[in-house]
Amino acid sequence: MATYTIRVFGDPVLKQRAAEVAEVDAAVVRLVEDMVETMYAAPGVGLAAPQVGVQKRLFVYDVGDGPQAIVNPRIDASDGEWDFDEGCLSVPGLYWTITRPKTVHLVGYDLEGNELSIEADEYLGRVFQHELDHLDGTLLLDRLDADQRKEAMRVLRSRALDLSATADSELRAPGRP
Ligand code: ZN
Repeated sequence: MATYTIRVFGDPVLKQRAAEVAEVDAAVVRLVEDMVETMYAAPGVGLAAPQVGVQKRLFVYDVGDGPQAIVNPRIDASDGEWDFDEGCLSVPGLYWTITRPKTVHLVGYDLEGNELSIEADEYLGRVFQHELDHLDGTLLLDRLDADQRKEAMRVLRSRALDLSATADSELRAPGRP
């Protein structure tokens, strides 16, 4: 097994809608194994294929019952409202309180092709909604209100400047620690 590099905010792969998985072949099984490894190494509780640069509609998660994979997932019903401090491995270190439906009904397939039908409440429901968003090219930042988003972009921009400033000074002063 191997781990992937997790794609972060700014990578265009995170803004695209992923394609349906036509067939769960050996390559998809391998992808899922490596995604699980990557998720544990991060560590995170969920990881969608676009986050490792693969445009397929599948995600893995583990909310304490062992690793699970869901292929071609879809939410066909949702209910209620729930506030939760949500973070994302692709926007590392930042969290926002986001309101989403409290309960969702998720359908999809497991790796053996069996149909799944899962009623998910609160935390699991939130993981499903977050991972589903990734498959549609939606990031946590797209779920923020105008003020939250402004603040988020300010933080992300200053981080980007820090990174390029560091790279720049290293270029000009080679050999410095
Ligand atoms: Zn995420």
